[in-house]
Amino acid sequence: MEPKGMSKVSTMPWTWSLPAIKTLRRNEVPLSYREPFILSRYRSCRSSLGTCLLSALHATNETLNFWTHFVPFLVLGLVTLQHVLDPSFRSDPFNWAFLVFALSGCVYLLGSSIAHMFSCYSEVAHYICYFIDYSTVSIYMVGLCVAYNEYVFPRYAINTVMHRVYLPMVFLLSLLFSATSCATKYSKHHLLRIHGRKVTFPAYFLWCNLPLAYRAFFGSSSSSSSSTADVYHIAHTIAATLAGLSYASHLPEALAPGRFDFIAQSHQLFHLCTAVLTYYQYHALSAEMHDRREELLTLCGTPTFVGTFGVLLANIFLHGVLIAGLAIWLRKPGQLAKIHKSLEMPTISHKED
Ligand SMILES: [Zn+2]
Repeated sequence: MEPKGMSKVSTMPWTWSLPAIKTLRRNEVPLSYREPFILSRYRSCRSSLGTCLLSALHATNETLNFWTHFVPFLVLGLVTLQHVLDPSFRSDPFNWAFLVFALSGCVYLLGSSIAHMFSCYSEVAHYICYFIDYSTVSIYMVGLCVAYNEYVFPRYAINTVMHRVYLPMVFLLSLLFSATSCATKYSKHHLLRIHGRKVTFPAYFLWCNLPLAYRAFFGSSSSSSSSTADVYHIAHTIAATLAGLSYASHLPEALAPGRFDFIAQSHQLFHLCTAVLTYYQYHALSAEMHDRREELLTLCGTPTFVGTFGVLLANIFLHGVLIAGLAIWLRKPGQLAKIHKSLEMPTISHKED
């Protein structure tokens, strides 16, 4: 750990031929950039695009946040591309909800990677990247729920009122979650800043998992579920729990501030857990499709383009409108100064140093 107030040039064994990047200590970057218990290796908040790209190869506190989602994006992207390029797979409407899930997985992994890489371009870019990060998570959950809606509801719950309102509610909750996630970053209202996301995310998460809750609480006959899929559903639920614990606890860096600025910080563990849970969700949905195809086609009929791709595209469009609106709002003269003022409120700043 370098002395307080001094900057440091990041070095890694394989970057000897690359231009160096100067990293900063916590007290040298704006409040909005500071992460709890991370004391050093911050990038400048006025980096060039080239520096943003180069930072992926230097030892900053965002480097592994980028790679822990970019590598899974490459893997899932290649697998999804194989499905998209397979004429027999993409032309079968029964597979469309699975493609929606896989594509939304690519969206969130790439969105997160981009957000972590370019958040140091400017302070406005920092906020916009933050919005993109949360919005793409929200879009991913919509894609997941499109697949849940088609493949995961047990036989006795299909075509009930809950099944019919499931996807419209997911759609609304995704927008509400994204809006409150964005608001918590800059709102001057204490309660919204501190508790907004803590309320909307659990509501959204619980509703999304309604089909699994049916199975857990009311059981499922062998004809209405896939035992292989059940194993994967349990595995991704465990991974989701670990992801939530990593995100909320700030462990291990909370125990030794400054020791995990580069590697093994909680956000990297959170990313790894989310990549693992996506892997298990992929296999759970594959198993559901394989094992329940005849039953689901008989009970639900053939999925439609509007009910699968249409839902995802409409959700992406509305998130784009939300992010564009926030970007325009952020660029209004004096807006950043107002945010700085709200960040310095006593109830917020006591956590910062
Ligand atoms: Zn992240």
